Amino acid sequence: MGKQANQTFPDANGRFGDFGGRYVAETLMPPILELEKAYEDAKADPSFQAELDYYLTHYVGRPSPLYYAQRLTEHTAKQHGSSAKIYFKRDELNHTGAHKINNCMGQLLLAKRMGKKRIIAETGAGQHGVATATVAARLGMECIVYMGATDIVRQKPNVFRMRLLGAEVRAVHSGTATLKDAMNDALRDWVTNVGDTFYCIGTVAGPHPYPAMVRDFQAIIGVEAKAQIMEREGRLPDAVVACIGGGSNAMGLFHDFVDDTSVRLIGVEAAGRGVDSGLHAASLTGGRPGILHGNRTYLLQDAHGQITDAHSISAGLDYPGIGPEHAYLHDIGRAEYVSATDDEALEHFQLCARLEGILPALEPSHAIPRTLDLAKELGQGGLIIMNMCGRGDKDVFTIADALGEHISEGTEG
Ligand SMILES: *Cc1c(COP(=O)(O)O)cnc(C)c1O
Repeated sequence: MGKQANQTFPDANGRFGDFGGRYVAETLMPPILELEKAYEDAKADPSFQAELDYYLTHYVGRPSPLYYAQRLTEHTAKQHGSSAKIYFKRDELNHTGAHKINNCMGQLLLAKRMGKKRIIAETGAGQHGVATATVAARLGMECIVYMGATDIVRQKPNVFRMRLLGAEVRAVHSGTATLKDAMNDALRDWVTNVGDTFYCIGTVAGPHPYPAMVRDFQAIIGVEAKAQIMEREGRLPDAVVACIGGGSNAMGLFHDFVDDTSVRLIGVEAAGRGVDSGLHAASLTGGRPGILHGNRTYLLQDAHGQITDAHSISAGLDYPGIGPEHAYLHDIGRAEYVSATDDEALEHFQLCARLEGILPALEPSHAIPRTLDLAKELGQGGLIIMNMCGRGDKDVFTIADALGEHISEGTEG
C-alpha cells in the first residue's frame, strides 16, 4: 500500500506536481527518450540489478554501517537535559568517500548495457567528476568531464585525481565559468555526439528521467538504513536528516520513508553567510521557481530571472538549484527544509571530529547542527538517522584556512 504513492511520481512526463519535466531543445529528445526506455528495461531486468549489486558490494563497499553516535547523543543530553538517539548512516565509508559513487555505478552500468563507450559528466567541486572517472576507469570507458575554468583553479587536487584516473577535464570559459556553465557544455556535447555518448548527471536534477533515475540509484541508502534501524531498534525513526546540494543523498535517504508518514523528512540547505546576506546556496529557502538544466524547480535567481552563483563554504552544496522532487515534497508539506550557515558547519565539523572520531565532509557538517536541534526537541526516546554522506579528508585545507591555520597542500595524502 504505502509504496504506491511513492511510485506514482514522477508522472509519465517526468513531473513531480508543478516541478520537473523535460525543458530541452528538440535535438535532445531522441537521446533522452532512448535513455528513458533503456532505464525502464534495465529496471525490470534482474540481471542488471544483480550486476549492480555485485559492484555495490565488492567495489563500493555496501552496505554502509548504521552507527549510533553515542557521544554526540550524550553531549546533547548533557546540554539540554535529554536527547533523542542519533544514528549516522555511514555513506562516507564508500569507495571514493561519499554517496556519489552509488549513482555513477548505476548510470555507467546502464551505459555499458546501452553499448555507449564514451561518458561525459559535468562537475563543480570535482567530486562527481572523480566518482565518474573512477567507475569509467573500472569499466574501461572513455571519460570527459566538463568543469568551469574558475572551478578548475579552485579544485586542483580533484582535477589531478580525474586525470590520474584517465579522464580528460575540459575547461569551460563561458558565463561565470562555474558549474551551471559546465552543465550547458555537457548538454551541448551530448547533442553533438548522441550515438556513442552517455551523459552521467551527478544529482537528482536535469531533464526526466534523470531526477527519478538518480534517486532510484541512491535509494539504497534509505533501504539499508530502514532495515538496519528495524534490526537495531525494532521501529522506524522519528526523523531522517540529510544535507542538500542538488539533493541526491537526501532523496536517496528519504525515498524509502516517503510513505511512512510518521517519519519526518528533513533537508538541510547551505545558508552560507546567512540567507539574508545573499551569499548562500539555499534554493528552497531563498530562491523561487524557474527553469534550469532541463527541469522546473526552485532556483537562485536575480530580479531578471538570471541564475545567480551559489555560495557555501562547502563546494559540494554550491549548486544554484534543487532537485524537482524536493520542490514537490516541500510544496505538499511532506518534507521540511531548513538551513545551516558556514560557521555552524565549521563548528559542528570540529565537534563531530572530537566526539566521534569522524571527520565529516563539510556538506554533512551542515546537517549536524539541525540534527542536534531535533535531538533536543524530540528528547529521550526519540530516534534520528542522519546521512553522513561524505568524509572530510578532502576539506582539511578549506577548514585549516577558515580556522586561520596554515598547512601546505604539498603534505596531502
Ligand atoms: C556532492 C555532495 C553533496 C551534494 O550533492 P547532493 O546531490 O545534494 O547529495 C553532498 N555531500 C557530499 C559529500 C557530496 O560529495
